Amino acid sequence: MTVSVGMASFRVGDAVVTRIEELRWDNADPHRLYPDLDAAALRDHARDLTPGSFNATTGRLAQGTCSWLLRLDGRVVLIDTATGNGKHLPDAPALNELDTPYLARLAAAGVTPEQVDLVVMTHVHADHVGWNTRWRDGRWVPTFTNARHVYSGMEARYSAKAAGIDPAPGLPPGDLGPADHMAAASVYGESMAPMIAAGLGDPIEIDGREIVPGLSVHSTRGHSIDHASVRLQSGGQEAWFAADVMHHPLQVYRPDLRSVYCEFIGPAREARERMLEELAGSGALCFTSHFGESGAGHVVRRGTGYAWRFAAPETVR
Ligand SMILES: [Zn+2]
Repeated sequence: MTVSVGMASFRVGDAVVTRIEELRWDNADPHRLYPDLDAAALRDHARDLTPGSFNATTGRLAQGTCSWLLRLDGRVVLIDTATGNGKHLPDAPALNELDTPYLARLAAAGVTPEQVDLVVMTHVHADHVGWNTRWRDGRWVPTFTNARHVYSGMEARYSAKAAGIDPAPGLPPGDLGPADHMAAASVYGESMAPMIAAGLGDPIEIDGREIVPGLSVHSTRGHSIDHASVRLQSGGQEAWFAADVMHHPLQVYRPDLRSVYCEFIGPAREARERMLEELAGSGALCFTSHFGESGAGHVVRRGTGYAWRFAAPETVR
């Protein structure tokens, strides 16, 4: 297995997982991210949070966006593709029309876009599918031209509906209740449709199925209509890519807190509680999409709840 010297990675059995960073910020307003958070509760939990995730002086949270690069049995896999450059997201100023060296960071990890075999999307939100495409010669074209792109068919139809591209997508009658939040309308046209038109898309159902040996998708719907978490099993070890089940370590201590980005608040909370129980019970490593620091860690039981411990990456040679 060839991995660039010095790249901070994690081993899970025979697999190697590397964080491909897109953005980091340390100034998230906790009360905007978590509208139900009160100041006294934040003060109570300040001691639970590490300085790399919570600045006690400013009272702000550290977060980021990223992909996880996975090398598994000779395959090059990307779990989510972050936000992308130049995407039009005026309602999310921090993500609007980015210009980041994401592809250079992927190259530093030893991977060109053409070498990616498989892209797995946890959900069709702007900050998880953006690098599916890039702007070339006046149009959005697929970035990972040799990759199969696996995603929930329901998520894609819902995203097409939000974009007004498919006003009647024939979604199954949902039992999630009315949406509390809608995702950005530009996502489907800019980041999904060109990839699908190029014949690179594989819509699936999120039903626990294995995509390739050792990699399976499991429903954690709620944050989005058909949100998936990805389980990695290799060499007797296990890890989860939990994506937006949690947005910051604070939610490990307070699973009841909804994020402002969650589409279906009640189901999102239920999914979070199930995932925390799964992680605490199994001891599996958890790769997150928006935590700061290493982005990966373990959930441990503490009293009647849970605590979060960041894992230190190793240098895989
Ligand atoms: Zn997200």
